[in-house]
Amino acid sequence: MTNNQDKNNSNDRSISLGEKALGYIKYNQTSASPDGYELWYNYASGLKPELNNQIKNLLSEQPRIDQEQLDELYSTHFNGNEVDNRMEEISSQVALELNEVMEMVGSSLHNTESYSESLEVFTSELADIKDEGSLRMMISSMAAATFQMAQNTKELESNLANSQKQILNLNKDIEAIKAESMTDALTAIANRKKFDITLQKEISLALDNEEPLCLVLADIDHFKAFNDNHGHQTGDQVLRLVANILKTNVKGRDLAARYGGEEFAIILPQTCLEDAVTVAEQIRKAVMNKELIKKSTGKKLGRVTMSLGIAQFTKVDSIESIIARADKCLYAAKDAGRNNVQTELSLENQADIKDHDAA
Ligand code: GH3
Ligand code: MG
Ligand code: MG
Repeated sequence: MTNNQDKNNSNDRSISLGEKALGYIKYNQTSASPDGYELWYNYASGLKPELNNQIKNLLSEQPRIDQEQLDELYSTHFNGNEVDNRMEEISSQVALELNEVMEMVGSSLHNTESYSESLEVFTSELADIKDEGSLRMMISSMAAATFQMAQNTKELESNLANSQKQILNLNKDIEAIKAESMTDALTAIANRKKFDITLQKEISLALDNEEPLCLVLADIDHFKAFNDNHGHQTGDQVLRLVANILKTNVKGRDLAARYGGEEFAIILPQTCLEDAVTVAEQIRKAVMNKELIKKSTGKKLGRVTMSLGIAQFTKVDSIESIIARADKCLYAAKDAGRNNVQTELSLENQADIKDHDAA
């Protein structure tokens, strides 16, 4: 196929996707803004399967997507771009600010140089001064030059203070964006990225300081059925609630994160297996004891439960191996009937009991 044919085919495809996107905008009556168009174009292309799943779930419960849902979908699935754009904007502002500071310093250097030249001229002329009138004139010129220099310095100081303030503000913006990029948009707790970074850091600290560390993986039981019965949006509220329970049950250096979907992870540094079980049990009971009530209607929705698996870090562990072992314990908790906590130790004990029975 020639290059031109390639281009024509790709144009045909993008035009057809664009038409589909406009069709979705019209049907759902959502805004035709660039963001809205981008979201529907991506939906039409199927490039983001998670986005398509969420939209399909919503459309299985209601005829159309409303603007509020669209905005939330956009911030969940296109957040990365927004963060990149804001970072770009801030870095160009920092560059502008630095340019200004450099110009200020440059012009101040120029002023200092000409002041020092005037002083040299005064010094060389001083020897030739014979009368009081000339001396007075020279002193007043020197005073004028010094006054000018002091004015320039004052101006420079205030401009530099201003720039410092602007740069500090930009720094705060960067910190805020950084925090946002590590936060899960739906539940407002740490996201997978923050989890990965923290686990890496805590594992190397545990190794260096020879301290224990435990990893808990937790998964909501039968959550698909909950969504099917009560709707995806109510499911989202439950995810927020579970995230809050996790957050309130950890402290200090512990980290509770959304690992993905309806799965959460908790990193417990300086914690032995026994104490990790206590934390996990507290969370399991808090989730189980929470009676769910639909805010809009006051309707009782019953309860959800969680299964949790815990692995304790060993010297030979890698990030992957400790996650895999916690996952194995989580699956054992599911197998054991859900709504329970399993650790490698409890699995070993169960195996021992089985061996004993067989013997
Ligand atoms: P199990 O006890 O074996 O974990 O059963 P389950 O139904 O929880 O597990 P399954 O993996 O079959 O289904 C997970 C469900 O979690 C399906 C999916 O719709 C739901 N889910 C994942 N992410 C989200 C989300 O962001 N919001 C909502 N409302 N539901 C979600
Ligand atoms: Mg589940
Ligand atoms: Mg799951």
